[in-house]
Amino acid sequence: MIINGKEIAKEIALKIKAKLDNLKPKKPNLSVILVGNNSASLTYIRMKKKACDHVGIDFDLYHLDENIDEKALLKKISYLNNDPKVNGILVQMPLPKKINENEIILSINPKKDVDGFHPLNVGKALIGDDSGFLSCTPLGIKILLEKSNIDIQGKHVVIVGRSNIVGKPLAAILMQKKPFCNATVTVAHSYSRDLIQITRSADVLVAAIGKPKFITKDMVKTGSVVIDVGINLEKQSDSTTKLVGDVDFENVKDIASYITPVPGGVGPMTIACLLHNVYKSFIQTV
Ligand code: NAP
Repeated sequence: MIINGKEIAKEIALKIKAKLDNLKPKKPNLSVILVGNNSASLTYIRMKKKACDHVGIDFDLYHLDENIDEKALLKKISYLNNDPKVNGILVQMPLPKKINENEIILSINPKKDVDGFHPLNVGKALIGDDSGFLSCTPLGIKILLEKSNIDIQGKHVVIVGRSNIVGKPLAAILMQKKPFCNATVTVAHSYSRDLIQITRSADVLVAAIGKPKFITKDMVKTGSVVIDVGINLEKQSDSTTKLVGDVDFENVKDIASYITPVPGGVGPMTIACLLHNVYKSFIQTV
């Protein structure tokens, strides 16, 4: 069965819109900082703006020159931290190499850190404290599983990829002693030996690798659930490009009990969870 992330994300957005309609004329504000002109970042920002416009969240974009220094960027963040009209601050990653991303994340007021990247929010996720913000992609995956009635309690979840924005926080969320969690989680990475054996032991396999069609049919147990986080542009023979995930969808779909497509799986859920986090921040101020 193909999990329709687009549809589930739409439902979440509609619920947020209805709640925000009731609070009019008050409106949340998401302030986004983009440094430079990374084409993928520009696409993501366009998608986030469209989603905010749709539900009634004010979206302010601060598009800064790629040569901006760290001090000037920190000053901008400090300004937004102190602006009472701003509920959420998002600094679009990646940043130019000369800027220390960790310092930038650390400078964001954790109460406005709607990406859930600040160490305070990461720590809260780890100890299961719901007062913080969960990182949007892992939260989106948890909701996808829940809405698809896939109970992972006691199941073996294998996450391939240990990034700070996907693999690690997802492991923290799914291992919590909470409903729709309680999974036995394994996190694999590029140093993991016998990867096929690990992935084949998964009841739920999450691919967050960044390599097109890396997870092939022989790596997947029949009847398992496969969640594809990857977003990759694959060159086609006619020199056009196609968006593909980290899973070889066409072959794996025949043996998986549930599978997310790319596009239309995890991606829309990430954006829906950003809306959710901005709403969560806003509602604490009204
Ligand atoms: P990342 O920071 O590049 O991390 C990739 C992870 O994959 C690393 O932990 C790496 O291991 C592991 N890896 C690489 N090659 C491997 C191999 N041969 N065997 C096992 N593990 C391997 O990537 P990310 O930011 O987590 O993103 C992963 C993918 O998800 C990308 O395609 C990205 O575009 C996509 N993404 C999608 C969304 C969404 O909303 N759908 C959100 C975020 C990211 P090491 O740690 O050992 O290097």
